[in-house]
Amino acid sequence: MDGKKLEYKGAEALKEIQRLTTEADKVQQDLLKEILTRNKRTEYLQKYMTGVSTDDVHEFKKKVPVITYKDIYPYIQRIANGEDSSLISGHTIVEMLCSSGTSGGEPKLMPTIAEDLDRRTFVYNMVMPIMNQYVTGLDEGKAMLLYFVKAEMSTPCGLPARAVLTSFYKSKHFKTRSRDGYNDETSPDEAILCDDSSQSMYCQLLSGLIHRQQVLRLGAVFASAFLRAITFLERNWVSLCQDIRTGKLSPMITDSGCQLAMSSILKSADPRLADEIESICSRRSWEGIVCSLWPRAKFIEAVVTGSMSQYIPALKYYSMDKLPLVSGMYASSECYFGVNLKPLCDPANVTYTLLPNMGYFEFIPISKDEAYGRDDEEISLNKLVDLVHVKIGCYYELVVTTFSGLNRYRIGDVLQVTGFHNQAPQFRFICRRNVILSIDNDNTSEEDLHKSVMAAKRLLDPYNALLVEYTSYADTSSVPGHYVIYWEIKHCTSSVLDKAISLLSPKVLQDCCIAIEEELDDTYRRCRTKDKSIGPLEIRVVKTGTFDLLMDLFIKGGASINQYKTPRCIKSDAALKLLKSNVKACVFSPRDPTWFPK
Ligand code: AMP
Repeated sequence: MDGKKLEYKGAEALKEIQRLTTEADKVQQDLLKEILTRNKRTEYLQKYMTGVSTDDVHEFKKKVPVITYKDIYPYIQRIANGEDSSLISGHTIVEMLCSSGTSGGEPKLMPTIAEDLDRRTFVYNMVMPIMNQYVTGLDEGKAMLLYFVKAEMSTPCGLPARAVLTSFYKSKHFKTRSRDGYNDETSPDEAILCDDSSQSMYCQLLSGLIHRQQVLRLGAVFASAFLRAITFLERNWVSLCQDIRTGKLSPMITDSGCQLAMSSILKSADPRLADEIESICSRRSWEGIVCSLWPRAKFIEAVVTGSMSQYIPALKYYSMDKLPLVSGMYASSECYFGVNLKPLCDPANVTYTLLPNMGYFEFIPISKDEAYGRDDEEISLNKLVDLVHVKIGCYYELVVTTFSGLNRYRIGDVLQVTGFHNQAPQFRFICRRNVILSIDNDNTSEEDLHKSVMAAKRLLDPYNALLVEYTSYADTSSVPGHYVIYWEIKHCTSSVLDKAISLLSPKVLQDCCIAIEEELDDTYRRCRTKDKSIGPLEIRVVKTGTFDLLMDLFIKGGASINQYKTPRCIKSDAALKLLKSNVKACVFSPRDPTWFPK
């Protein structure tokens, strides 16, 4: 990799970011040349770039098509079945990474080579030096970072097939990670590496509680996993306190790695600490619980951009809005992309600076409207823009070329350029393309739906009710079809949902239905009002914990806790069945939304 060096610390890391961003174009062009030098003899590239040209880059840009997963899948499948890596890469494919995207119901498999771990480590090593510029003294305490692995599978030829974070946590890069310049972590590696997620969570929280007075930062990879930890704590704090009180680990923990690691953390009975935690956790309201349990925490580290932004209110609730929410990096199974150089900024203003040594980045310019539309059009190659030539304010879909064999692969993310750091552009994450609800001509994107749900959820505020989670479904079982939105609502002073529902009259929920519809786009409202091709929107309130069950279902089906994001639109029959069986109340929009013919 560029510079070949991984171990950047403190000022040296910041200097390297300066260098990479100042020379972004050169770094990108050199990187593409190197990828082509290494990979041009692969079967895939030979199909497009015949012979060995003196100007490979030119040839690549002219001839190699922009693709999606279905185009590369036959090659991936052949490698998974035992054919040589040279089909797509000049290096050995050492494992397949399971991304959270699916293709035909199966997780997508992304090829990876050994040195990709170096690239990922490089990005991780940049995050704390950036943070240390804004928050001092982080090396004087501990970090409670909740990380999880998931069970691995293997391909027919025996290659490991696992989540990118599982691969990283199991690597020697993670085991030997440098903790210089920042704090020690409370979670023992054995607990992180335990693939029973309940035992892993229990031990990580137990250790975090034992060290509560030393914890200076806390979080998880995505906001959803951190909130899941709080729900877990709500259900298990009595047992956790009991362990601390007696100095004995719950018999529920049967994993020998966890038992061994916890024996050196849970060394003796500490009834005073147990009393403190018990008195905090038995409060009627859990508002601000994070600050009470970890009083020295300075920020919460978890991605809260993109689809994770809907968790911001819940995180603010549990932290009394006192702790900054830090989204440190932007990455995927295909390639790690970039870092947030202003980690303490408001979540709404987060931008990621793409690091030009991670992969070769190109951009498909799109209009704001296209950003939310379907993505199955052919891409003309002369439309593609290089990293340093994107324009401020414009929207783009990200395309990557990697050493491991993805060539001009569409990640499916839509980004908007907000500015530049030296030569390197900075991007706001807009949405994942292709996540839409559609009944007629309407094309509702994830972001449209999110915006509308957020507008409606404000109507819950006067009732002290919080929208915990939502998803949607295009119900076409009757004519006309209609949008169904599943809501999980929590009453802030009670964890009993029934009470929350009884406090929310059907009228409030009807108002929420129409508020969502009023916020959806012109086409939707025309279909509803003039064409009558879409029926009234329906909100179905589900029981507390339903979305946890939904996550369990997806995890059983191959998703990982770290990477899990609630799908904003449900297509699977099993998931729909689960949601339907947990419905407590249904209401429909009471009237047509407003629409003015143009
Ligand atoms: P996966 O391949 O399962 O690791 O998922 C990668 C996808 O997660 C990316 O392509 C994005 O859509 C999303 N993602 C990752 N990091 C962020 C981030 N910082 N903000 C918003 N979305 C993100």
